[in-house]
Amino acid sequence: MVQDRFPDERIAALSLQILIDRDTCMGSGNCVFWAPGTFDLGDDGISVVLDPAEGEERQMFLAQEGCPTRAISLWRDGVEVTSP
Ligand code: SF4
Repeated sequence: MVQDRFPDERIAALSLQILIDRDTCMGSGNCVFWAPGTFDLGDDGISVVLDPAEGEERQMFLAQEGCPTRAISLWRDGVEVTSP
């Protein structure tokens, strides 16, 4: 079973939700650098989430922290979370 192989934190990471404030994003691409499987730049040059389940949670926090305009917010179960 998955619960036997991963601690609870890893299972909880699967439910992390990513929101991008498209009005704040300046298209720097930092998030794509830190979490390339999770983020990409759309045709309009603004960040989009490709697959929130792709990559490790640590990468998502690095992307959030590396965003120069603080356009990325991370949520779990309706509560905004920050880097541990
Ligand atoms: S790091 Fe922030 S500003 Fe840069 S593309 Fe990603 S969301 Fe947009």
